[in-house]
Amino acid sequence: MTRTIKTEHFDVLIVGAGISGVGAAYHLKDQCPDQNFVVLEGMESFGGTWLMHTYPGIRSDSDLYTFGYRFKPWTGTPIATADEILTYMGEVIDENGLDQHIRYQHHIDSAKWCSKNKIWTLEGMRKDTGDAVRFTGKFLWMCQGYYKHAQGYTPAWKDLDKFKGKVVHPQTWPDDLDYKDKHVIMIGSGATTATLAPAIAADCSHVTVLQRSPTYFIPGRNENELVDKLRMLGIDEKWIHEIARREILHLQNHFTRRSFEEPEAVKEELLAGVVKYLGPDYDIETHFTPKYRPWRQRIAFVPDGDLFEGINSGKASMVTDEIERFTEKGILLKSGKELEADIIITATGFNLSVLGEINFSIDDEPLDFAETVTYRGMMFTGVPNMVWIFGYFRASWTLRVDLIGDFVCRLLNHMKDKGLKAVVPKLRPEDKDMPLLPWMDPENFNPGYLMRSMHLLPRRGDKPEWQHTQDYWVEKDELPKIDLDDPIFVYK
Ligand SMILES: Cc1cc2nc3c(=O)[nH]c(=O)nc-3n(C[C@H](O)[C@H](O)[C@H](O)COP(=O)(O)OP(=O)(O)OC[C@H]3O[C@@H](n4cnc5c(N)ncnc54)[C@H](O)[C@@H]3O)c2cc1C
Repeated sequence: MTRTIKTEHFDVLIVGAGISGVGAAYHLKDQCPDQNFVVLEGMESFGGTWLMHTYPGIRSDSDLYTFGYRFKPWTGTPIATADEILTYMGEVIDENGLDQHIRYQHHIDSAKWCSKNKIWTLEGMRKDTGDAVRFTGKFLWMCQGYYKHAQGYTPAWKDLDKFKGKVVHPQTWPDDLDYKDKHVIMIGSGATTATLAPAIAADCSHVTVLQRSPTYFIPGRNENELVDKLRMLGIDEKWIHEIARREILHLQNHFTRRSFEEPEAVKEELLAGVVKYLGPDYDIETHFTPKYRPWRQRIAFVPDGDLFEGINSGKASMVTDEIERFTEKGILLKSGKELEADIIITATGFNLSVLGEINFSIDDEPLDFAETVTYRGMMFTGVPNMVWIFGYFRASWTLRVDLIGDFVCRLLNHMKDKGLKAVVPKLRPEDKDMPLLPWMDPENFNPGYLMRSMHLLPRRGDKPEWQHTQDYWVEKDELPKIDLDDPIFVYK
């Protein structure tokens, strides 16, 4: 017997209730009060990244003045734990009545656009009941993040299965993992390692951080002097939030520009920050001097230098080498040295997810995003009535959530005012001979998960309107000025 699936209709369908989806819902409610919408979230609650990652010490590496929304003051320390971020997001949901719009445990598998009816149909399954679900909507706002949530990336190391101890990926951290007095090897050198190693080092017998190549770190105190002073003066939290944001963004802009214009000087400054903690005798050259220019990969902030304190205390140590193969007791390195461990933590990153692993089709034709060209990293040629939030790497992700929120609401209001039902970005005659390049210039930004899967992502052109420039400081002025009557937008 075939069960009929109830179809629910909304003006806007949002996929994902992470920091992007909750921000999208807020902006819709605030700027388009007459659009009804639903947020479809596969997990049991909101938060996305901050709900899913539960490894010890999980925290932001951005300051929360800019990782928080522009409309809701952040009142805690600049770097926040996942729990603090979830509390903040929960307040945004409560204070704005967003809960009634969110459907948890709703995993979406397919998205179909019908040109005749100008409607998206999303189908999926309720994870709690197993029931099939179907939603239709005029506009689709994809807020599903950028990496596969089910499983992190683990390279295919030789003889991994021979290791007799436990292998754990931070993305799927077992609640009952007992690391007390254990020898731990942590593979990887990014933000996760910088967070996790100091969080567990005191309890472990020893943590060895094994990295193939070093990463840049910015050690600093987890406080903001300007904020503390303004608060002491009794300034309103809304003002403090805005002033702190402006100051941080001003300083980050300066830093980012300098890392392009004078990379050597910036590199020396970053390394000097590490020397300050580890002392002149530590082998900074081997373990903390990356081969790449600053900002080609995210630079991890180390609050209060805790990673370096762990090294100074003797509880953590760095090994920069390559893995030859796993052994029963641990890892044999290319140098011939063998590292022994009870637990090996693979902080080796993500698997990129292209649009939430949802099967997309346009008028029953399967959609391959790699064949589309991106309009400003948020819309795609040939894909009507859809926007994706892909944030910034060199600045907080959420800055773009607010900017794209304004853009989508302006676009929806424009279409409503003019009685337009569909919009799709299209290359103009002057774009005909434009070179089509991979989503991101590897010279600009090249983390492993992007490099491994770039071929799956939409392409970019060589003009700012046909790429995600990753430049908040330009976009903050340009996105609000986008002319919605530009021939790039084809309306129906
Ligand atoms: C450990 C860690 C620390 C980070 N720290 C920072 C930081 O300090 N600063 C910064 O700017 N960035 C940071 N990032 C990047 C971070 O992922 C983004 O900043 C941001 O949280 C992404 O939010 P999002 O809502 O776009 O995506 P996510 O947080 O990934 O949320 C997407 C949501 O969509 C849901 N979803 C996906 N597919 C489907 C589907 N098919 N059906 C239904 N629901 C679906 C998921 O369940 C999830 O809840 C960090 C990332 C990690 C992993």
